[in-house]
Amino acid sequence: MTEAPVLVINAGSSSLKYQLLDAENGEALAKGLVERIGMPGANIRHEAGEVEIRREADVPDHAAAIQLMRQLAAEAGLDLEHTPLRAVGHRVVHGGRSFMRPTVVDDHVLAEVERVSVLAPLHNPAALQGLRAALDAFPQTPHVAVFDTAFFAELPAASATYALDTAIAKKHAIRRYGFHGTSHEYVSAAAAGFLDQPDAKLIVLHLGNGASVSAVDAGRPVETSMGMTPLEGLVMGTRTGDIDPGVVLHLHRVAGLSVDEIDTLLNKKSGLLGLAGTNDMRDLVAAVEAGDDAAKLAFDVYIHRLVSYVGAYAAQLGGVDAIIFTAGVGENASAVRAALAAKLEPLLGTNLDETLNEQRSAQTREISTPDARTKLLVVPTNEEWQIARHAVDVT
Ligand code: AMP
Repeated sequence: MTEAPVLVINAGSSSLKYQLLDAENGEALAKGLVERIGMPGANIRHEAGEVEIRREADVPDHAAAIQLMRQLAAEAGLDLEHTPLRAVGHRVVHGGRSFMRPTVVDDHVLAEVERVSVLAPLHNPAALQGLRAALDAFPQTPHVAVFDTAFFAELPAASATYALDTAIAKKHAIRRYGFHGTSHEYVSAAAAGFLDQPDAKLIVLHLGNGASVSAVDAGRPVETSMGMTPLEGLVMGTRTGDIDPGVVLHLHRVAGLSVDEIDTLLNKKSGLLGLAGTNDMRDLVAAVEAGDDAAKLAFDVYIHRLVSYVGAYAAQLGGVDAIIFTAGVGENASAVRAALAAKLEPLLGTNLDETLNEQRSAQTREISTPDARTKLLVVPTNEEWQIARHAVDVT
C-alpha cells in the first residue's frame, strides 16, 4: 500500500458500520459493525483478514462505538491511535440542494447537514452523531461527507421536478433528489469500464432491502426512481415504492391512521414484507417454489414494477447498452434476474445465459449470451471504496 488507509464510517441511528481500506485498490484492511447502540447488549463484529472478533457490550452512543472500534482494531493487531489515516469518509444520506458533491467537513458543513435533516429526519441526525464522534476521535485527520444524493444532484430538471405548485415546492425544497447515489455511481462506472464503453447507456438496478434504479448516459444520471425520499419507486423489502398519493389521504381520512402510523406502514410494513410476510428475497423465492400464493403475488408485483421502470428508462435513454444488477438481491437472486430478463427479452433482446446466471462470483460478470442486443451484467457494489476514493479526491 502506497498511501495511508481511509476510514469509512456509515452511521445509522443505532448502528455504526466501518471499514478501513486502501483507496487505491479497494482492499479492506478491517471492517466491522456495531449494532444496538444505545440499547442494552450491543453486538459488535470486527474482521481483519483471518481474524474475527465478536462481542456483546453496552455501547451508549456513537462515540463509545468508535472507541470500541479502536479497541477491537488494536486487539486484531492494528493500532489506530498511531496509524496515520489519509482521511475519514462519512456516508451522509441527504445533502439537499446544499451539497452537490463530496465535501470536507467543518463547522459550517455540520450546521448545514443539520439544517437539511428535515429532508431525512431518520437518517441525517444519525450521520451527524457519527460525524461528531469521529471528529472528536480523529481530530488531526480530514473528514469528508459523501452524500447519497450527490450523484443525482444534476438530474435533468424534467426528471427532478414534481408537477406540484411551484411556490410550495420551492419553499419546502420538494423535488426529486434520488438516493443510493454512491452505489449507482460506482456500479455505472465499473460497468462502463468492464464494457470498455465510456459513452454506454446503462440502466442500473440497485436491488437490496432498499431498491432503486437509475438511467446513466455516458456517466451522467438522467433518471432515478427514488424521489424526495427513498420511498418512491420500486417495490422494496419493507417499502411500498410508488403508490397513489390518494391512498395516503384515504389511510388518514377513512382508515383513521395518524401521519406517523402511515409513515411506519409505508416505510416499514409494506413492500415484500407487507405482501408476503418476509422482506428477505431468499425466503420469498423459497416460498414461491413451495407454492405459496401470497409469495407468488409479491414476487410478481416486484418484477412487474421493475419491468415498467426498465422499459421507461430505456425510452428515456433512447436505447440501452446494458442492464446492471447490484446489491443483495441483484447480486444474488438469480430467480429475480431470470424473471426480469424473460420479460424484457422481446423488447430489448436480453439473452440471458442461464448457466452464467446461476454462477456466483465476487467479480463483475456478464450473464447474457454474446449475441444479446442488451447486455446483462452483475456488478458487486462497493460503496465504501467509492466513499474512500471521494475522500481522497477532495483532501
Ligand atoms: P442489501 O440491502 O444490499 O444488503 O440486500 C439485502 C437483501 O438481499 C436481503 O434482504 C435479501 O433479500 C437479499 N439477499 C441476500 N442474499 C441473497 C441470496 N443469496 N439470494 C437472494 N436474495 C438475497
